[in-house]
Amino acid sequence: MHGIHHVTAIAGPATRNFDFYTQVLGLRFVKKTVNFDDPGTYHFYFGDEAGSPGSILTFFPWEHAAAGRAGVGQTQITSFRVPATAIGFWTHRFVEKGVAHEAPEKLFGETVLRFTDPDGMNLALVGVAGAETEAAWATSGIPQEHALRGFHGVTLLLEDKAPTAAILTDVLGFKETAREGALTRYASGAAVGGIVDIREAKGFLAGRMGRGSVHHVAFRAADDAEQAEMSRKLVASHHQHPTGQKDRNYFRSIYFREPGGVLFEIATDQPGFAVDEPKEELGKTLKLPRFLEPRRREIEAVLPALDVAS
Ligand code: ZN
Repeated sequence: MHGIHHVTAIAGPATRNFDFYTQVLGLRFVKKTVNFDDPGTYHFYFGDEAGSPGSILTFFPWEHAAAGRAGVGQTQITSFRVPATAIGFWTHRFVEKGVAHEAPEKLFGETVLRFTDPDGMNLALVGVAGAETEAAWATSGIPQEHALRGFHGVTLLLEDKAPTAAILTDVLGFKETAREGALTRYASGAAVGGIVDIREAKGFLAGRMGRGSVHHVAFRAADDAEQAEMSRKLVASHHQHPTGQKDRNYFRSIYFREPGGVLFEIATDQPGFAVDEPKEELGKTLKLPRFLEPRRREIEAVLPALDVAS
């Protein structure tokens, strides 16, 4: 199965980020860990009940991160699936919770409700017919029938779509399926996380990374062998130089900056988030990779406290 594995973005204050995604959007907090390269900083993982590939939105929250600027060479919008019948519920909820949002619009035949998180990250809910029959993580105030059901996809804002499209279709398992205005849609066939839209914007201002920006988009590989084959193709046919494999505890990853400027990752589906705590306990305690365990006390002392029970 191909498609998006996870999306990672930069946030401001950790508690505000945590409250928005668990309480306003009702995602499950599937892992509380730290940035392995900067262990004084959290790395939050939000997703569905199991943290399935295609449902995982992760954040590096930095208390004093400067605001990012949206622009070319970036992920412009990150979209979640909801049942088509849930758009009214969410519009009402956004009004009630003071979430900045736009009027719903039609795109590729689906209703899209755009909104932003407290850091200005551009998000959308896409109403998908039939999604109400899928399992979902229900929370207080968000009944199962309206809950989010993983990613719909991402929209990339690029100067020139061709070289990125070549990698999506040749390496990452996507096919071009539709065009509308400046948008071209690529689909992997996966129900969850199966869409990448490219908006071509020649001559547009470049984006700047900061809070509210997507740091990278990760795509799925079933296992190490498939990832290695994808890496080989990137080198042989696309002039890319992916990194060596890095162990991220919950998946194993390679990274490359695609020709349009967006950092891409290819992450394995295995081993998943239940590797270091049972599924029922996901997100309840701070999990550290083995090499950081000796520093646990020091790390816990600098991380802001979260009300995880809520
Ligand atoms: Zn990642």
